[in-house]
Amino acid sequence: MIVMKFGGSSVKDAEMIKTVTSIVKDRLDKKPIIVLSAIKGVTDNLIKALAESMNSQYNAYEEIVAKHKEILSDLGLDAGAVDEELEELKKALEVNSKVRQNDAKILDYISFFGERMSTKVFAAHLNNVGIKANAFVSGDIGLITNSKFGKASMLDSSYEIMNQNLSNLDVLPVVTGFGGKDENGEYTTFDRGGSDYVAALIGAAVGAEEIQIWTDVNGIMSCDPRIVSNAKTIPELSFDEASELAFFGAKVLHPRTILPAIKKNIPVVVLNTFEPDHPGSRILNESKDIDGVIKAISYKKGITIIDVKSTRMLNTHGFLAKLFEIFERYKKSVDMVSTSEIHVSMSVDSKEDVDNISKELEGVAMVKVKEGRSIVYVVGASMKNQIGLAGKIFSILGDNGINIEMMSQCFEEVNVGFVVEESKAQDAVKLLHEKLID
Ligand code: ASP
Ligand code: MG
Repeated sequence: MIVMKFGGSSVKDAEMIKTVTSIVKDRLDKKPIIVLSAIKGVTDNLIKALAESMNSQYNAYEEIVAKHKEILSDLGLDAGAVDEELEELKKALEVNSKVRQNDAKILDYISFFGERMSTKVFAAHLNNVGIKANAFVSGDIGLITNSKFGKASMLDSSYEIMNQNLSNLDVLPVVTGFGGKDENGEYTTFDRGGSDYVAALIGAAVGAEEIQIWTDVNGIMSCDPRIVSNAKTIPELSFDEASELAFFGAKVLHPRTILPAIKKNIPVVVLNTFEPDHPGSRILNESKDIDGVIKAISYKKGITIIDVKSTRMLNTHGFLAKLFEIFERYKKSVDMVSTSEIHVSMSVDSKEDVDNISKELEGVAMVKVKEGRSIVYVVGASMKNQIGLAGKIFSILGDNGINIEMMSQCFEEVNVGFVVEESKAQDAVKLLHEKLID
C-alpha cells in the first residue's frame, strides 16, 4: 500500500485532475490511498466567506460555487455532485450572518468544506473513467482528534481504527486531508497545510510502504533556484537534514508534518505532479550518504543578532537560564546561539519584541543589537566525518571578502551555520553552492 497526497495546485482545474488521474492510474498495483487538499484557493475563500457572512455578503461563497461547477462541467460530471455540501455551507453562512461567530470551531467546520468537496469531485471523476473510487471524510474512517480546533492532535487510538477501515476496501479511497473530527463529531483541522500530516498519519496507520507527497516542484532542492540557477534535487535526505532545511527556505513541506511516518521508518517521497517521472526527494529516518557530503546551502534573511556581555557569567551557573527566561516570557524563539566566557550571541528572525527583550536583558548584562543579518546554513549529516570542511567554508568566504560574524556547529553535526551581513548573503550562498555542491 502507498499513500499519495495531492495538494491544492495539483487539483486546481479539470486538466490537473486528469493529470493526477493518470498518475494514480499508473500506480494502481501499489494499492494507493489518496489524500487530497482542497482545490487551490478554496480554503482561503472559505475563510473569507465566513468573514463576509458577518456582513451578509456571499462573494467568496459564489466564487467557490463557480469554481466547483466549472470543474465539474469541464470534466463532464454531474453538475450537482457537490450540491449537498454547497447547500450545507450556504445554510451555515446564512445562520452565521445572524449569530456572528468567528471562533476556531466554526472556522474549522467552514474551512473543511474544501476537502469535503475536492474529494467528491475527484472520486466522481475516477469512477467516470472506470476506476472504482469512494470519497471519505477522514473523521468518518477513524481520524479522531482532540477538540483543539485549528491546532488539533490525533488520538492514538485512531491508528488501529483507520487501519481496520482502510485495509480491506474494494474501492480506491479518496480521503480528505486537513484534519479529522473530534469525539463529538465536530470537524477539526491540523492548521494550514495539514493535509501532509493526514497523509503521514494514514501511512503510519496502515503501515504503508511509502508516502508520496505530490506537489509542484521537483522535490527538495540543494539551494533556492531563484538564487542558484543550477540548484538540483536532493535525491535522498534524512529527516534531520529535511528539518534543518525546512526552517531555512525549503517550503515544500514542513518536516514536523511527516514525523508520524518517519518514526515508523516509512519513506516520504516528495514528487512533482507537473513532472511525474522525476524521481523527486526521498526523506528517510536515517540517510546514508549517497550523494556527496553536503546536501544543501540555505539561508534566511531578516535576522537580528542580540549580543549580551557579562563578566558575571565567569564561573557561574544559571546565567543562560536567566537570559532565556526573558525570551520565554515574550514567546520569542532563538534560532542560533553562540557563547564564550563572557558573551552570549543569539539570533532571532524578527524584530518583534526585540526592544523590550533588550531592555530586560540590560538588567543582567550589557546588550548590543545588530539588525540586517542573514544566516547561511551548509547542510549535510555526514559532514561530521569530514576533516577540514569548516576550513574550506571559511576560506571560500574569506577569499571573497565575506565576514563571518557568528557561527555554530553542533556536536551531532547536521549543519554549519553562520551569520553574515544581509548584503553578502546571496554571494555567500552562490559561492558555497558552486564550490561545495556543483
Ligand atoms: N487545504 C488546507 C490548506 O490550504 C490544507 C492543505 O492543503 O494541506 O491549508
Ligand atoms: Mg501544502
